[in-house]
Amino acid sequence: MAQYDVIIIGAGHNGLVTAAYLAQAGRRVLVLEKRDTVGGAAVSEEIFPGFKISSVADGCGYLSAKVRRELKLDARVETVPSDVVAFCPQPDGTQLTIWRDTQRTAEEIARFSKADAEEYPKFVELMSRIADVVGGLMEMTPPDLPEISLRDLLNGAALLGPVRRLGRKRIPDLLRILPMPSADLLNEFFEADAVRGAIGASSVLNITWGPQENGTAYTLLSSWAQSGTGLFRSAGVVKGGMGALTGALADAARGFGAEIRTGASVSEVIVADERATGVRLSSGEEHTAAAVVSNADPRTTFYELLEPHYFDTLFVRQVENIKYRGSAARIHLALSALPEFTALAGGDATAQLSGPIQIAPSLDYVQKAFDCTKYGEYSRYPYLDLLIPTLSDPSLAPAGQHILSITAKYAPYELDAGDWSAHKQSFADVVIDTLAEYAPNIRDVITDRHVLTPPDLESLYGLPEGNPNHGEMTLEQFFHMRPIPSCARYRTPIAGMYICGAGAHPGGGVTGIPGHNAAREILKDSK
Ligand SMILES: Cc1cc2nc3c(=O)[nH]c(=O)nc-3n(C[C@H](O)[C@H](O)[C@H](O)COP(=O)(O)OP(=O)(O)OC[C@H]3O[C@@H](n4cnc5c(N)ncnc54)[C@H](O)[C@@H]3O)c2cc1C
Repeated sequence: MAQYDVIIIGAGHNGLVTAAYLAQAGRRVLVLEKRDTVGGAAVSEEIFPGFKISSVADGCGYLSAKVRRELKLDARVETVPSDVVAFCPQPDGTQLTIWRDTQRTAEEIARFSKADAEEYPKFVELMSRIADVVGGLMEMTPPDLPEISLRDLLNGAALLGPVRRLGRKRIPDLLRILPMPSADLLNEFFEADAVRGAIGASSVLNITWGPQENGTAYTLLSSWAQSGTGLFRSAGVVKGGMGALTGALADAARGFGAEIRTGASVSEVIVADERATGVRLSSGEEHTAAAVVSNADPRTTFYELLEPHYFDTLFVRQVENIKYRGSAARIHLALSALPEFTALAGGDATAQLSGPIQIAPSLDYVQKAFDCTKYGEYSRYPYLDLLIPTLSDPSLAPAGQHILSITAKYAPYELDAGDWSAHKQSFADVVIDTLAEYAPNIRDVITDRHVLTPPDLESLYGLPEGNPNHGEMTLEQFFHMRPIPSCARYRTPIAGMYICGAGAHPGGGVTGIPGHNAAREILKDSK
């Protein structure tokens, strides 16, 4: 008899969610994590002494409400939501704040354009309804196309609710908007650059495209569907940082009986008679199980943990063609005081600075920041997404000091000029120079800085090409095509071998949904 019912490779948040559900259902579960800590890309680390930093992901709002409820996470994790969804300083010293409250935001927008202020509530209503349909797909197991089964059709019926709520007249809107460039969509509704930039930036935050590229309206909708704010992005932090969330998930999984080992790198999935039967660790240790689940990305799973010769040529080619393409650098700054934004001079800045801060003053600005990636260059005027988590949770830094974490785009994985190690500090300088145009005191208050380029995200956190989501979350890598058509249902061509990470539907972000859906399918197969 196998030692375990299920072995999970990787204790990223999705691996932990899968482990918790399976252990809750009475399965004997072993989780093996190669790093010394659980959490994958959702971790808190003491990068500077006394500062607890969410080194990769830091915004928490995307975690599925169902997962939170079913794994009883509310008792273990405290989140601090933010009323500000995006504070957007402008080059002319003004600012636009997007609040959760639509009316309050419309009043802000009226300072830029009265027509846009009138359009905003209508835009929010339309996008929310369409996002409801996209959101309705998230917890579904994608159909096996073209071999669609009766069960798939019945599951598809669950979508009818959101489609019906959308209304017959709006179905053409859904079909028209999904493949559009977000820039075209936003240009139809709004005339002010500030408004277009504030909303459109979220369409490309996690992908390597500019807002003028086809399909970016879909990425905007996808973010909208999962944000938990009813708007285009999430806003809020976890007390204690993202590591507190994944620590709570690990505690929940252990509480249900799962065993979790860190510092345990799996080198190989053992396959016998075309069935996964266990794993071998780099130490040579072996464990057997009735099922093996990989939380690693698809390329690592199929090329490193398994071997290409297990699969047919089409499968291998499809895995090879998965687009990863990371293009964000992560820069953490330790600050002796808050940055002083020109746009907030003379007032109390803490409300606006408590949520996400975006340097994306127009769609053209973001598009130009993207354009250079086509030639292997980093942006000279990058699009910046900033968070000061210490305003919501002062315990993260020594008294009176702050953390400023920046996701800086675009920083392509491969630089034409050569190795990133020779360029990472110059890119960080560009980022700080850009920020200084909006918050001139920034250089004076920085006491330390830490820079992670896409190759660093790959080598330190196991994110190939530095992609945040184990593969781009674009339309052609969506739903039944994620990660590739023949394993979009969490199963793989090898019996007893599953995937549960961000490379699987519905993709990345700290949602827990791939982990939840994978557990459901594994339980169905092992009834
Ligand atoms: C710069 C950046 C910013 C982001 N910001 C946000 C944000 O603010 N909000 C948000 O929701 N999302 C954000 N994301 C995305 C989010 O972090 C990821 O999509 C998500 O964490 C992926 O979770 P996962 O569990 O699927 O995979 P991972 O977190 O990648 O976990 C996979 C785990 O498997 C382990 N593993 C791999 N191979 C082996 C092996 N051979 N043996 C043992 N263990 C192995 C890895 O060490 C890792 O722990 C961000 C990502 C990046 C890069």
